[in-house]
This record gives sequence, C-alpha cells and structure tokens, in this order.
Amino acid sequence: MKALTIILIILILNICNISAVQKDIKEMKETEPRQTEPAPTAEPDTGITGDTKLYFCPDGGTQYHLDPDCQAVNEQFRPMQETFTAAELNDEKYIQMDACPVCGAPERK
Ligand SMILES: [Zn+2]
Repeated sequence: MKALTIILIILILNICNISAVQKDIKEMKETEPRQTEPAPTAEPDTGITGDTKLYFCPDGGTQYHLDPDCQAVNEQFRPMQETFTAAELNDEKYIQMDACPVCGAPERK
C-alpha cells in the first residue's frame, strides 16, 4: 500500500510538472515579442547610376564633377558644358581624372 501511494504521488507530481512545463512553454510563446523583421540594410541610395552625368573642365581639368556649377571649379569655366556618364569613368579618355570631393562626384569603381 505504501509503495503504491508513493508511486501515485510520483505520478501526480510528474503530471503536475509536465503541465507546468507546458504552461511555461505556452507563456513563453505568448510573451515572445513579436519582432518585425528588420529591413535589410540597403546600400545608401546615392542616386548614382551608370547614366549619371558627370561634368569636367576641358581645359586641363583634373577632376570630374557631379555638379556642373561646382564651387571647386574656376568661375570662368562654370557651368561646365563637357559631360560624360558615370559608366564611362573607366574609359581611357577620363581615367586620368579624379572624383571631386566638393560636389560629391562618385568614386571610380
Ligand atoms: Zn566638384
């Protein structure tokens, strides 16, 4: 009789434990913060594409510019008329020029 009582107690305790654990799991699921997926970190949109027009000064300009009226260029050459596109940056014709830091011209890739 005594042994049976012990087994019964153990069984009851086990059942209680199981339901307690199940309750815990349920609560954990319920309290789990509903996190919205963080947006994938996209590259900063500079708006620079291969079609972006770049400007340069034909008279020995060593830099190319995003702004045809860039302050880094001598006033007499502004606004610059000579243009090429960002896609042409690696062309032999333009390879000698560097990006102007003043108007934020895109770096050669
Ligand atoms: Zn510039």
